Amino acid sequence: KNKNRVEAQAQALLVDSPFTRREGDTLHSSYTYRRNALARDAATGSLKVTPQVHDFRFRTNLKPTRTGVMLVGLGGNNGSTALGAIIANRHGMSWRSRDGTHTANYFGSVTQAATVHLGWDGTEQVYVPFNDILPILSPSDLIVDGWDINGANLYEAMLRSKVFEPTLIDQLRPHMEGIVPKPSIYYPDFIASNQSDRANNLIPGSSKSSHLTRIREDIREFKQKHELDTVIVLWTANTERFTDVRAGLNMTADEILASIERNEEEISPSNVFAVASILEGAHYINGSPQNTLVPGIAQLAKRNNVFVGGDDFKSGQTKIKSALVDFLVSSGLKPESIVSYNHLGNNDGKNLSEQRQFRSKEISKASVVDDMVAANHILYPDGKGPDHCIVIKYVPFVGDSKRAMDEYTCSIFMGGKQTISMHNTCEDSLLASPLIYDLAILTELSARIQYSSDGGVTYQPFHEVLSLLSIFLKAPVVPEGTPVGNAFMRQFNALTKLFTAVAGISSDSDLQLEFFSK
Ligand code: NAD
Repeated sequence: KNKNRVEAQAQALLVDSPFTRREGDTLHSSYTYRRNALARDAATGSLKVTPQVHDFRFRTNLKPTRTGVMLVGLGGNNGSTALGAIIANRHGMSWRSRDGTHTANYFGSVTQAATVHLGWDGTEQVYVPFNDILPILSPSDLIVDGWDINGANLYEAMLRSKVFEPTLIDQLRPHMEGIVPKPSIYYPDFIASNQSDRANNLIPGSSKSSHLTRIREDIREFKQKHELDTVIVLWTANTERFTDVRAGLNMTADEILASIERNEEEISPSNVFAVASILEGAHYINGSPQNTLVPGIAQLAKRNNVFVGGDDFKSGQTKIKSALVDFLVSSGLKPESIVSYNHLGNNDGKNLSEQRQFRSKEISKASVVDDMVAANHILYPDGKGPDHCIVIKYVPFVGDSKRAMDEYTCSIFMGGKQTISMHNTCEDSLLASPLIYDLAILTELSARIQYSSDGGVTYQPFHEVLSLLSIFLKAPVVPEGTPVGNAFMRQFNALTKLFTAVAGISSDSDLQLEFFSK
């Protein structure tokens, strides 16, 4: 019964809103945005709060575009899992394991498997699928290709990754065996030295500008071959070390272009991919922790009207942390120490077993509680956050089945202590792949929306640094001077409230004022 009801709701979402107007494929909507203007009196320190009302307009193309996703690291665990699962879903595959029969699904994808609370219909609370709010792509619509420094075909890559059950791999084999990643670029200094034996599928030569040209050609050819309107390039290749960020190297668009031209050592493979992608009008997303999105790359994205987003998929341990620490701090409890151990046996773990690549991951994992600490001056009067320790060890036998053990110790009432320990075991790529879809799908949607803050006189696209993707990322890159948010439910609410506003639906404030009367 419940299932039928959900399906009926899904089919019956007709928006009858005084805040929208439809013209062909374009939806015009208006939204009243209420926010507080805040000012602190320098002399007394008191805070002045002035509520304000702003009129926003949105203009949305309701027709999803034909979209291709090019994965850098296609032959890796995430790459092969993300593509394999799309094919399994397209074909409605089922397979057996010792636990029974499983059917392909998109669990773990917010756009495909999360619901949004719209309100109370007099009898029950009404939730609708996220993908009913506005027309968006399904992962099954995405056309996927990509590069890898290793030349294994995608069937071999699936076997190597040990993520899917053999009975599913056998069914996927005819669809995956013929796919071989495009040759890529390998600058050994950026990923761990233990990866050198993987590098057998490389674009010839050592000139970074010729690499840039070749990657641009690959993107152009992919776009033409599949008659695509939108291309998104997404890095799910190995974690690189950080690059230097400095004037003359990569602070402006012209600097980074010139640095590639003169074969500058500090230009990483991911820098070359990001620049190639932007110059081809493709959006670029960084799923790994390294600092690819240097200021010069953001400026280049602005110049070419494309989005960039990053860094580092927020898939397992950090995702839980970004929900749990928010919950603890919001409860008035004070996390004093957070100790996170991981061990994993996949190639990502192997790459992270070297210090410079581990350091990139450590930085991205560590920043995740900052906004929650900053939110509570009662618990953290001097702004000093909890002791936060992150350990990652490579244990080949456990493969992609990553183990994350976390211990949170809080100061509680009257000098007491509370210690929470958790153990999380999961195939890493089964958590990360749905995020790849969501990142691509919401980037495509964002490119169809324009907004106006002057009553509809002028419209503009969202900022080139697409911070609404933050919910899927451990260390969100945001436009300069804007706050970074990590708390999971706040990010979820921001996302759903934005898209309901764009759709012209009053977003549910959770106040439930209608139930106040006796
Ligand atoms: P993986 O090692 O299995 O896959 C990476 C692939 O990238 C490999 O096949 C490798 O050959 C290839 N590669 C390396 N350098 C390349 C280059 N310059 N060009 C093209 N291909 C290149 O790793 P994975 O488990 O798929 O994870 C991929 C990335 O995603 C890692 O950086 C990881 O830290 C990040 N990440 C993963 C998760 C997760 O799986 N849950 C979460 C957050 C971030």
